[in-house]
Amino acid sequence: MSLFSQKHLQDEEAAYAWVEERLWPNGPVCPHCGETERVGKMQGKATRVGLYKCYKCRKQFNVKIGTIFEKSHIPMRLWLQAIYLIASSKKGISSNQLHRTLGITLKSAWFMSHRIREAMRTGGLAPMGGNGGVVEAYETFTGRKKGAPKKRAYHHKNAVLPLVERGGEVRSFVVEKADGENIMPIVRENLAKEARVMTDEAKHYGKLGKEFSEHGTVNHSAGEYVRGDAHTNTFENFYSVFKRGMKGIYQHCDERHLHRYVAEFDFRYNNRIKLGVDDKARADNILKGVVGKRLTYQTANS
Ligand SMILES: [Zn+2]
Repeated sequence: MSLFSQKHLQDEEAAYAWVEERLWPNGPVCPHCGETERVGKMQGKATRVGLYKCYKCRKQFNVKIGTIFEKSHIPMRLWLQAIYLIASSKKGISSNQLHRTLGITLKSAWFMSHRIREAMRTGGLAPMGGNGGVVEAYETFTGRKKGAPKKRAYHHKNAVLPLVERGGEVRSFVVEKADGENIMPIVRENLAKEARVMTDEAKHYGKLGKEFSEHGTVNHSAGEYVRGDAHTNTFENFYSVFKRGMKGIYQHCDERHLHRYVAEFDFRYNNRIKLGVDDKARADNILKGVVGKRLTYQTANS
């Protein structure tokens, strides 16, 4: 059976019901006044799908209010199809492809995919590498900075710092410049003191051994990739997919939006099949992130 024949991806009523079940597990909640009791579903042929009325504040509402779906005219079933496609495409899916596959305008596809990336932006809060876990931190470079002349090395590229815990999650950060001033605060903020940190030999990592339980290094510039426990294998697992996606699918990514693309790759890695998350569950998990992420066309563009 095609996964796209699932009812909530085909039928508008079912699509709303599917979203409502997940966002309102205890029944509808009026977003205007918080009422849960005196709330009724609007019936009748002329009524829009998914419309409710609150008999306390007398206002109407639907499940889209306060979520990435708010004020969107795109049918819910197409939103869910787009979420499914983004959740299951390992290297991502371009707005152009969504535009062609879903039969919506390119502008809608672009806006939709940025909103879905917002929903994927979760960002773990617990420190990484607790209980002596190993976290690999290697800077990477992608795209080209606006207006920067193409040079050798990486000076014209945008720097991204993925922190990858072995057997665990990744958290990637877009950094202004790959230097100590930009990188060290991120490392300190996200790693537990008992973490074992693996980096390359860049100078700005010099004092990590004093702050964390262990600091191992490999000398990337000399072609060294393994030194005992210090290796880049976990990082490479994440980065090979990220690199191929950014080069092959999102090659024209604007640096203003880079943080959202980065969030997309982090999300799929953190919801990967090895951790028991299949395509269906991954799409479900995206839906958990849709609340409180309203994004207007202006904020998407700035
Ligand atoms: Zn109300």
